[in-house]
Amino acid sequence: MKKIELVDVGPRDGIQSQSTIVSTSDKIELISRLADSGVKRIEVASFVNPKRVPQMADVELLIERLPKIKETKYIGLVLNEKGLERALDTDLDEINCATVTTDTFCQRNQGKTSQEMMNSLGRMTTIAKKKNRFFGVTIAAAFGCPFEGEVDPTKVLEIAKNLIGLGVDEISIADTIGVAVPTQVTDLVYRLKSVIGEVPLRLHFHNTRNTGIGNVYAAAEAGVRIFDSSCGGLGGCPFAPGATGNVGTEDVLYLFERMGYQTSISMAKLIETSKWLGEVMGQEMPAMLNKAGSFP
Ligand code: ZN
Repeated sequence: MKKIELVDVGPRDGIQSQSTIVSTSDKIELISRLADSGVKRIEVASFVNPKRVPQMADVELLIERLPKIKETKYIGLVLNEKGLERALDTDLDEINCATVTTDTFCQRNQGKTSQEMMNSLGRMTTIAKKKNRFFGVTIAAAFGCPFEGEVDPTKVLEIAKNLIGLGVDEISIADTIGVAVPTQVTDLVYRLKSVIGEVPLRLHFHNTRNTGIGNVYAAAEAGVRIFDSSCGGLGGCPFAPGATGNVGTEDVLYLFERMGYQTSISMAKLIETSKWLGEVMGQEMPAMLNKAGSFP
């Protein structure tokens, strides 16, 4: 049976742009519920300036209080060297940094051009490796940019090649603003595979234009086995206008379960978690399966 790994990014990407501030204890409950549902990797927070992203003001406190669960790995997102320093001071299992394909978006997101960010990633990879910490990198806006429009796939390939040269532990490809279509995904994944070899490839889709599940399917058919998703389908980048939710974990799980893939996640527990999160956020979750339920 083919195995699929889902990384739930809900506690970070899912809630970062929400106006309702989620308490530390509710975040801990969300993360604990996800772990109990069988999610093995959870992106729990980002080390950003709380003035820019108020939802992330409690990162260090949150990580200190997280339950230690064997087999569940916690990931923290960083955007710069200062964030990496903070993350290394915690006992997070994995650190993930982002870079952006286009200069305009990279400047808005991280205050650097794409090339300046690559130079910074060189230093960051060295530091993380010295500390024996798992260090992955996300290439954001890989299928289109809110400011510069079309993104040439060769740009993504070039960044991926440079990251392989640095020796990063994993490469993620993100459709940050949810513009990708499946044919584009198939094409990029096949081209990436020849560049990145055995390094794990993870895909991150937003369902902004309702192509999210189609894109997940296309990537899986092209051989990708690691996907980001967020419980309930919440999500969005604070620095990308009009950005909306990640593909919902329950929706992605349904797709793979019915297609005969093996996952570690309990649908019943996940739907319960999604409903609970809807109550905490005071809104209906955008994902579908929490309303429809699984196969009757
Ligand atoms: Zn995202």
